[in-house]
Amino acid sequence: MKPNCPKAGGNISGSTFNMKSGHFELVTHSPEQTQQIGTAIGKQAQSGDLILLVGDLGAGKTCLTQGIAWGTGFDGYASSPSFVLVREYRGKLTVYHIDLYRLDTIEEITELGIDDYLCGEGICVIEWADKALHYLPQEYLLITFEHLTDNERRLRFEPNGPRYFKTIEQIEEKWN
Ligand code: ADP
Ligand code: MG
Repeated sequence: MKPNCPKAGGNISGSTFNMKSGHFELVTHSPEQTQQIGTAIGKQAQSGDLILLVGDLGAGKTCLTQGIAWGTGFDGYASSPSFVLVREYRGKLTVYHIDLYRLDTIEEITELGIDDYLCGEGICVIEWADKALHYLPQEYLLITFEHLTDNERRLRFEPNGPRYFKTIEQIEEKWN
């Protein structure tokens, strides 16, 4: 399907899809575009989904999470939960927005009671998930952010688990 490009900030570009590995990459050219990708993910999210976000400070993780929250029907604003560590956004589904930035050891992370969120209703979106990759369930959608220029970010999607292949396929259909 071609192309259904978001108007704000021009076209999302540079998308490549490797069907064999299931990896998918695209470049967004504005925060709004990153939010739009998030909204597409949030719209088809299902209870139990786990979305792991990896990338430097300012890479766009919270921006994408904002879109995910909107996609689930939440109408407020997401902000980086670096100080409270977990924030909840209640739309049709609850989004648990977790940020591991300030945590250093796996003990600190387990003390956060992350299991309750992972096993509960709703979906979990975890920033700096690379800090806890070995501790987290094996099925997840991993999104890695690369800061290209002031307004450009490369997003790489790696589905781990059949459920997430579907998500990627739909994003690919919409933006490729
Ligand atoms: P992180 O959570 O990864 O630390 P944030 O989402 O909080 O990053 O911040 C991303 C910053 O980069 C915001 O100030 C946003 O306006 C800016 N930005 C510029 N271009 C983009 C883009 N294409 N996608 C996402 N954010 C962008
Ligand atoms: Mg953040």
